[in-house]
Amino acid sequence: MRMVKLAACLLFVGTMAFSQEKPSQSVTVIRAGVLIDGKSDNPRRDQVIVIRGNRIENVSDASNAKIPASATVIDLSRHTVLPGLIDAHTHIFLQGEDPAEGGYDANILKQPLSFRAARATVAARHALEQGFTTLRDVETEGAGYGDVGIKQAINAGFIPGPRLFVATRAISTTGGYNLEGYAPELQMPKGAQIADGPVEARKAAREQLDHGADWIKVYMTHRSWIGKNGDLVSQPTLTVEELKAIVDEAHGWGKKVACHAYSGIGLHRALDGGCDSIEHGLDLDDAAIAQMMKQGTWYCPTLAVYYKDWAAEDTPEGKRDRKRAEAHAASFKKAMKAGVKIVFGTDMGGISWSEPIAQEFSRMVDLGMSPMDAIKSATSRASVMLDSEGDIGTLAPGAYADVIGVGGDPLKDIKILESVGFVMKDGAVVKSGGK
Ligand SMILES: [Zn+2]
Repeated sequence: MRMVKLAACLLFVGTMAFSQEKPSQSVTVIRAGVLIDGKSDNPRRDQVIVIRGNRIENVSDASNAKIPASATVIDLSRHTVLPGLIDAHTHIFLQGEDPAEGGYDANILKQPLSFRAARATVAARHALEQGFTTLRDVETEGAGYGDVGIKQAINAGFIPGPRLFVATRAISTTGGYNLEGYAPELQMPKGAQIADGPVEARKAAREQLDHGADWIKVYMTHRSWIGKNGDLVSQPTLTVEELKAIVDEAHGWGKKVACHAYSGIGLHRALDGGCDSIEHGLDLDDAAIAQMMKQGTWYCPTLAVYYKDWAAEDTPEGKRDRKRAEAHAASFKKAMKAGVKIVFGTDMGGISWSEPIAQEFSRMVDLGMSPMDAIKSATSRASVMLDSEGDIGTLAPGAYADVIGVGGDPLKDIKILESVGFVMKDGAVVKSGGK
């Protein structure tokens, strides 16, 4: 029996080894001081996780655990062990573009796709190193089907990265996406696939599904501003008929549709069109919440990103930025109270990948969500939305061995999830050190 002592090396940044080969049927055992399994509300003390190959075989009390003689033992007995985390809203092809350096437009107009793919590779590795073993990446922002290629490279073991659920190009309408503001004579590239009318919308969905989309992402609102009554107004994009064509097509393929929707007409069209998840949902009125409850719609709020880069307070943009955060907080609280299914999502890429992904947990907890519920939103609950219940987001027999460890109690201090020390994906150790 080989003992791998981790406790000592958790005091400094340890070495990282990305295992390229799939672990065979070798047996690894993790001793967990405290185990949060992602499903139960109750943490359990002194647990043993037995991993065979890339799946969890058994989880039991240390006192009656049977540890095979040939097993590699990883000692996390002074740590809290959780399932690998799931971020349900990321953009690996965005890098928190700095407006001073040309912002979003320069990324599309000046960077070769190979350069963008290289940076996406780094973003994926950052996510994995922070304990996010699964991402739902919701559009490439002008990088076409680049996410499909990154996913293939990860799955084939060429680069380290999380499990990816990819949305490819996303869909919006004429006047419904960047790049914009250029001379009308110019045919500018767009960050999303533009489709007008149910026929074009269905065709766009078919193309994306044909080329490997796991989800379809639709922009149901675009610009936003403060209206005459001081409320948040959003420009709607697709009609209900256009969205219904997309949803019908995606559901036929056994796939789901994520709708970017801020408020008002576009948000209601998203729900009337049968959207599976509302992204951002900055201003959810009571009717929207009631409809989400009735239809079982998921809510991926992405709070943290709306607290960044506010324009000056006395400008229209600055007023809008503050109003968005205020309405968002109220929407989140209302949705939580009503029992809407809330999943963890960040909009990383909109936020620089150098920032901690887990900062979203603190925003959720600050707005009244319990730490355990916030953890579930990034584990078991997200796994249900991704149709992967039992495979990911839980530490239980049969699940993939995606396991993280932190040197403290996240139920007392959720911020500790920003310093994940141990990361395993698919039974292979990705990171065995940390802060
Ligand atoms: Zn986004």
